[in-house]
Amino acid sequence: PWARVRAKLRAEVGEVEYRNWLRQMVLRGVEGELVAISLPSRFLRDWVRDHYGDRLKALCLPEWPGTRRVDFRVMADAGTDASTQAESGLAESLTPSPRSPAVAASAARVTEAARENEWMAPLDPRLTFDSFVVGKPNEFAHACARRVAERPASAGFNPLFLYGGVGLGKTHLMHSIAWAIREAHPQKPVAYMSAEKFMYRFIGALRGGNTMEFKTQLRSVDILMIDDLQFLIGKDNTQEEFFHTFNALVDAGKQIVVSADKSPNDLSGIEDRLRTRLGGGIVADLHATTYELRLSILQAKVAQAGVDVPVKVLELLAHKIASNVRDLEGALNRLVAHAKLFSRPLTLENVPEVLSDLLRTHEKRITIDDIQRKVAEHYAIRMTDMFSARRARAVARPRQVAMYLAKQLTSRSLPEIGRRFGNRDHTTVMHAVSRIQQLMAEDRVLAEDVTLLRRMLET
Ligand code: ADP
Ligand code: MG
Repeated sequence: PWARVRAKLRAEVGEVEYRNWLRQMVLRGVEGELVAISLPSRFLRDWVRDHYGDRLKALCLPEWPGTRRVDFRVMADAGTDASTQAESGLAESLTPSPRSPAVAASAARVTEAARENEWMAPLDPRLTFDSFVVGKPNEFAHACARRVAERPASAGFNPLFLYGGVGLGKTHLMHSIAWAIREAHPQKPVAYMSAEKFMYRFIGALRGGNTMEFKTQLRSVDILMIDDLQFLIGKDNTQEEFFHTFNALVDAGKQIVVSADKSPNDLSGIEDRLRTRLGGGIVADLHATTYELRLSILQAKVAQAGVDVPVKVLELLAHKIASNVRDLEGALNRLVAHAKLFSRPLTLENVPEVLSDLLRTHEKRITIDDIQRKVAEHYAIRMTDMFSARRARAVARPRQVAMYLAKQLTSRSLPEIGRRFGNRDHTTVMHAVSRIQQLMAEDRVLAEDVTLLRRMLET
């Protein structure tokens, strides 16, 4: 029955996904209504549970009719308890059958496994160059990543050091490089792992007395990618090992790709000689996202998912969720899930309600200055046009919108508002307010603009 479940799932998801994620599943047992499945690492376990859990349950049902629950566990590593993070890190070792140290020893096996690319840490199939949106803040890093993927280990691009804050796309770029190389050069073994995993494997090898094997395996790759290198700060032995691996590979003409949260110079706690080597190739940073990039990313995600989200909603998200792309994705996913769940269309009105925690809706005092600034920014006019005497429509209309919002969102009197808009008369403000009110009834675009501005100011 288990073989049937696997075969069906394999047919459903296709060979690539199956190999990446599901091949290492082991059936631990069936007890009453519970089916227990184990995977070699926490990462794989979580991934399979989150992405295939429901499908697996549905496929188990016909085989074991009483099934109510599928449990996903982390495989015990050769008799040790794999419940701690360290152990689960070790469990996902370089070879396909890491749980038997006696088996894995021969160099022939290593080469064979390497040729099959089988021991590469799982790559997320969604993280490819195709799904990476390029904008000003990441174009340099992206270009370097492309270049390395096309011509690994070419002079000047080795190592490639990617750095930037959380959620700006470092891991995405690294996976993209790995996928691209895998496709273009299937014979080149690529190893991708987090620095944390590197450490656990190293410590595991030390403990198991097979550091030679560990070294041989690492040095047999053509491309080594280590994500989140800052994790090695203060881990002197692991750093030392990494340094030697690094040197051996670079000297052998192999490509290294490293990511970290800071530039080599700013990574304190890394040995100088390693720092020097890390900065010796090309160093590319991922800058904080801009509004434009955030909007393009949202548009790409929406198109990919095939969901219909009003552009104004995307604009609001791009404005309000400026922290990083991960939060932005999270917000979008939540909105879409919400809209599906309650089968109602997404509108500007229900965004703040769904995302209240992310948008941090707090009662804040809105100032005329805030309003003028936001409105000017929105219509791409100069802030000074808020006070100027220019009457051209392109500046007069936004100025009226700002006056309208000042009246609606602050407790200022008409004369006060007038004064703040270049010493205009209170009748001008009054006229602006009624004009905008009237226009909003007939001009949908203007009405949406005003609602959007209002939401941005209020939340
Ligand atoms: P980091 O490793 O720098 O912390 P990640 O690469 O994990 O960040 O990115 C966080 C999330 O944002 C991922 O889901 C990733 O796919 C997405 N993401 C980041 N930058 C982009 C981009 N330029 N285009 C599309 N998605 C992106
Ligand atoms: Mg990352």
